Amino acid sequence: QKYVYDFTEGNKDQKDLLGGKGANLAEMTNLGLPVPPGFTITTEACKAYLDTGREPAGLAEQITARLAALEAAMGKRLGDPDDPLLVSVRSGAKFSMPGMMETVLNVGLNDRSVVGLSAQAGGNDRFAWDSYRRLIQMFGKTVCEVPGEEFEHALDEAKSAKGVTNDLDLDADDLRALVDAYKKIFSKHTGREFPQEPREQLDLAIHAVFESWNAERAILYRRQERIPADLGTAVNVVAMVFGNLGPDSGTGVAFTRDPASGAQGIYGDYLANAQGEDVVAGIRNTVPLQELERLDKKSYDELLSIMARLEGHYKDLCDIEFTIERGKLWMLQTRVGKRTAAAAFVIAGQLVDEGLIDLDEALHRVNGAQLAQLMFPRFQLDHEFQPVATGIGASPGAASGKVVFTSARAVELAAEGESVILVRRETNPDDLNGMIAAQGILTSRGGKTSHAAVVARGMGKTCVSGADEIEVNVPAKRFTVAGQTVGEGDVVSIDGTTGKVYLGEVPVMPSEVVQYSEGSLDPEHVDNALVRAVHRIMTHADGKRRLAVRTNADTGADAARARRFGAEGIGLCRTEHMFLGDRKELVERLILARGADEREAALAALLPLQRADFVEIFREMDGLPVTVRLIDPPLHEFLPPLEQLAVNVAVAQERGEDVAKEEALLAAVRRMHEENPMLGLRGVRLGLVIPGLFAMQVRAIVEAAVACAQRGGDPRPEIMVPLVGAVQELETVRAEAEKIIEEVTREKAVEVLIGTMIEVPRAALTAGQIAEAAQFFSFGTNDLTQMGWGFSRDDVEGAFFWRYLELGIFGISPFESIDRDGVGRLVRIAAEEGRAARPGLKLGVCGEHGGDPDSVHFFHEVGLDYVSCSPFRVPVARLEAGRAAI
Ligand code: PEP
Ligand code: MG
Repeated sequence: QKYVYDFTEGNKDQKDLLGGKGANLAEMTNLGLPVPPGFTITTEACKAYLDTGREPAGLAEQITARLAALEAAMGKRLGDPDDPLLVSVRSGAKFSMPGMMETVLNVGLNDRSVVGLSAQAGGNDRFAWDSYRRLIQMFGKTVCEVPGEEFEHALDEAKSAKGVTNDLDLDADDLRALVDAYKKIFSKHTGREFPQEPREQLDLAIHAVFESWNAERAILYRRQERIPADLGTAVNVVAMVFGNLGPDSGTGVAFTRDPASGAQGIYGDYLANAQGEDVVAGIRNTVPLQELERLDKKSYDELLSIMARLEGHYKDLCDIEFTIERGKLWMLQTRVGKRTAAAAFVIAGQLVDEGLIDLDEALHRVNGAQLAQLMFPRFQLDHEFQPVATGIGASPGAASGKVVFTSARAVELAAEGESVILVRRETNPDDLNGMIAAQGILTSRGGKTSHAAVVARGMGKTCVSGADEIEVNVPAKRFTVAGQTVGEGDVVSIDGTTGKVYLGEVPVMPSEVVQYSEGSLDPEHVDNALVRAVHRIMTHADGKRRLAVRTNADTGADAARARRFGAEGIGLCRTEHMFLGDRKELVERLILARGADEREAALAALLPLQRADFVEIFREMDGLPVTVRLIDPPLHEFLPPLEQLAVNVAVAQERGEDVAKEEALLAAVRRMHEENPMLGLRGVRLGLVIPGLFAMQVRAIVEAAVACAQRGGDPRPEIMVPLVGAVQELETVRAEAEKIIEEVTREKAVEVLIGTMIEVPRAALTAGQIAEAAQFFSFGTNDLTQMGWGFSRDDVEGAFFWRYLELGIFGISPFESIDRDGVGRLVRIAAEEGRAARPGLKLGVCGEHGGDPDSVHFFHEVGLDYVSCSPFRVPVARLEAGRAAI
């Protein structure tokens, strides 16, 4: 098996085998760009090594052969005492895992070749000894697990002994002494001398890079970023070039466009007389890349022309690392660069303009998560505001408020109308009330899957987690950051997209993408590159998608807003939401009714109110389908809570008041009490148990439709029955409904469809039978997930999902993104068997998953006709439906 590839042998599409870095180094080599020669050891070799703890057979020989070729190309031998070839050994996995794995530079240096290196560098002793001490330090730390602080310590001691603070003030003799000190540290910790044999150094470094795939931080990072654990890393062995050979040398990073805004121009940083690690360590300040033009015009021009070439070749924003060694430019790395959500849209639009990509490709380059980010309000940041800490953007949004440290205080202040930010080291289920009350949540510990992050995302609440520069002291009600103390009541602002934390109230500005989506910004007449790019790509997505996008809306106002966002109808109108407020009392009357007369009177009082609601909704969605779902939740939700009521009655009795009415209510609440209401009397079961309830709703819907039609409107009602598990349930409701429809539409013909939710697993598994009685199915994936997994949807996220995510039992909450294998399978079965029984059966989804990017792709794949989601997510669903179709 071939385990080692010369850079001339690979290409950019071999990331699985060569890792991202190796594949791109090969690509650049083959483009004829100045890449230092080298070779890549494949991820296959890494996997074999990790499986067995030994190099796979043949790897050593292949390395020997490639190394010989490298030595021939460079005209030097690895570690040669007189004129040594030195190499770097760098990790490079398929997906970039910045800073997670290991690199060892200057491999090949030893007590003898350090002299040769000095001669090679024109008698630069300082440089040679500095390179040697860097090797011992990196090798010791990464290969032999010597604690890094010990080297840092020795370096600090050397500086303070000399009375200097800058590394550059140590001369060759100081560094030679430091090398001795480093070697002592090395042998103290490893029980052996620092290896002098160059090939042994190389082999050990390669093994260390292999092993760094399973370093704890790498495992954690993969879990967070959902990178599979079994990919392994490739290892790149590259001839060293030096940016620290004097003022005509240096190192830098550059982007072919601004990764923040997407604007074209020259973006990058340069550091003269330095190696890459100095830039990362921030020892000295870099200068803007433009400065290089003054310092070394030849290299600068060459760099710019290479960048243009790379962009044209990759047809995308590239980021690069380069080094200049005594006036000679070397490319050390390139890759398609990370970028902000705004830049993703802007760049995709620009590349279409430049003819580099077409609109399908532009649509590939952006995604719904990015669009969703752009729909949150943003902080308006001028120079006045500098972040004091940066954590993880755990749940997007921009929130400002008074700092509180306890859940109780959050609830208190929020009740006074204050906006508060709950600050904790980390949150736990006891903080739930405080999280609900707060505008935003800030924690100093924990990542994207911490309790705070998971719960905040579930609530749609802004959250920054793991801002570890912040020292939280809950008992003292303060935190310290950047030398400042922030107490309870002080105002902070947190950006849940970038993870940045600011002191004081940062003004918030509305999202231009929302303004555009709502039609209040005209993309043709606005000087805003982002809005124009979004418009163009959205228009293309709309042209490509097969899935229609509807909305979940229960009021005329929501319906109107969703329609402006592009909704093509209502996929779910939850009628129980129309029973709240003042109407609760009418529902109470219905529940307490003694005998048919009282019940009918209560229903008669509700009828006109329901009808008026539907008229408004049909008007806003004129010409588009409106799916109205008959009442779903258990009726006791409309009654006061049992304990409270019992106490009230007892107190009133004590006082000798007349409590006949309260007692009746209490008796009803007791009668209706359920241990497990989500599995109890709700949905179609209610309709079958309370005579006249569904009939009243059906009548209200159809009368409203007839009224609209009579006024020249085009109402398209679809009546949906919730929680059906057996076709007989649906048949019973349908027979009654059809009679009413027949009667009411005698006045004016209106077509009314009758269909069902598929949200009980049994319904999915008997979809063939149910389809005989249903004109459409709408998948209620919230309940289907709840009942499919047996997870109480109202409890689990706060109770233990964070732990499940931490353990990797699932990568994302199944309530957020469809569980394709389990719940998704139920959807697939029901779709197939439903359509087999009734060809052309209309299929949609109205659970939360309808607005989740990955789930939209799934619903496209299983052949649904539409997804339905909250108004705000309609643009995201449109975009993803378009992406799913190309
Ligand atoms: C569902 O269960 O997915 C659904 C849309 O209904 P609800 O969320 O109202 O239970
Ligand atoms: Mg449901």
